[in-house]
Amino acid sequence: MKRFFAVLLLISATLVAVAQQSPLKPRPDAFPSVKETPDTKSIVMATTVEEMTAWDRYPTYPVYVEMMHRWVERYPELCHMDTIGTSLQGRLILSLYIAPSTDDDLYRPEFFYSSTIHGDELTGYIMMLRLIDTLLASYGTSPELTALLNSTRISINPLANPDGTYWGGDNSVMASRRENANGIDLNRNFPNPFAPVAKSIPHENQLMIAYLTAHNFRLSANLHGGSEVMNYPWDSFTLEENPHPYAEWWQVVGRRFVDTARTVDNTRFRDVSQDGVIAGGDWYVISGGRQDYVNYYLDCLEMTMEVSLQKILPCEWLPYYWRLLSKSLINYIGEIHSLPNSIGIEEVEGGKRRVECYPNPTTGIVTVTGIEAGTKIELLDFTGRLLHTYSSHQAIKPSDNQTITLDLSSFVPGLYLLRTSSGTAKLLKR
Ligand SMILES: [Zn+2]
Repeated sequence: MKRFFAVLLLISATLVAVAQQSPLKPRPDAFPSVKETPDTKSIVMATTVEEMTAWDRYPTYPVYVEMMHRWVERYPELCHMDTIGTSLQGRLILSLYIAPSTDDDLYRPEFFYSSTIHGDELTGYIMMLRLIDTLLASYGTSPELTALLNSTRISINPLANPDGTYWGGDNSVMASRRENANGIDLNRNFPNPFAPVAKSIPHENQLMIAYLTAHNFRLSANLHGGSEVMNYPWDSFTLEENPHPYAEWWQVVGRRFVDTARTVDNTRFRDVSQDGVIAGGDWYVISGGRQDYVNYYLDCLEMTMEVSLQKILPCEWLPYYWRLLSKSLINYIGEIHSLPNSIGIEEVEGGKRRVECYPNPTTGIVTVTGIEAGTKIELLDFTGRLLHTYSSHQAIKPSDNQTITLDLSSFVPGLYLLRTSSGTAKLLKR
């Protein structure tokens, strides 16, 4: 782990050097701290791939698709294209898979970035395109980014809702809108693990779920705009109601992101919370967001990154935001090597012993250790409602490691609590 942080520091140093080559214009203090409507004159479209060279324009839809394909042509040994699917209006939902092909590549943990599920939140779209370009161009030349690519499989989906972004037509983002072509807010319509209601899953989300399920992502982020804050799970609850098992880890990771960005501009990430980090439900509770779905069902830690106060930045600000965010975005990929053990496992210090259960998540049979002889074990749902009481008498083994095996296969998938006299453990049932 120490070695890894050294690598992170080196990556940071490299990026500062890269960023210093491009003059900062306009100055950071010229940027507004309030939400504004962009000046329509400053939304310029790139109509060829070459016009994207300075990263100060938005690509038309055909230019976007061509950029993605050109990377695959130019770096065939480093990346390939995954097509997540085709939108309602027939546009491609693409993800670039970046992993130098070697014998051990399948053992590297999988990371996923996705942006612009809200079609009018465009900053992340451009940041993701530029991130792809930087990662690919740096392989073999930057030792730090080469090490990151050699240790991680990275997938990047720059545009999750192309119909929303190109709602006004393929050649402009001026009429972009939040929803998909059916007027559905995609980030409110993923299966909600905490309030399972029969709800039809919109087309693009069905595609995304199939794609996510086919991969084995361990860390991901979904980029949005309209605020500047690192929003960590759960979105369905306040921190007090139901803290995510790794809330503290999220806070550390979120602050690292924000503090790194603030070395570029100390005024950023201040509109929602002082440290730029918040538990989703403490900001406002939503249901059906992708973040909670991914964290709960997919064994993957995902956070929602709100990366710019304005949803559609004037073009001349795009290079500034890259300078602000690039180091943080790259470092966040590296956080995959600092993950807590496994989502779903939570041991709460009780009295004399530490209660643990495994496997966790489980499909039914679960072994609980660290319980006291002759006591009962209560199974509660995540709201604390008692569902069942087990006696430990017969099952307990006469040893210091007191163990009981329970069968939860008749319970619906979800988050449960196992309460014993020596502590409580959280258990995820699949
Ligand atoms: Zn959004």
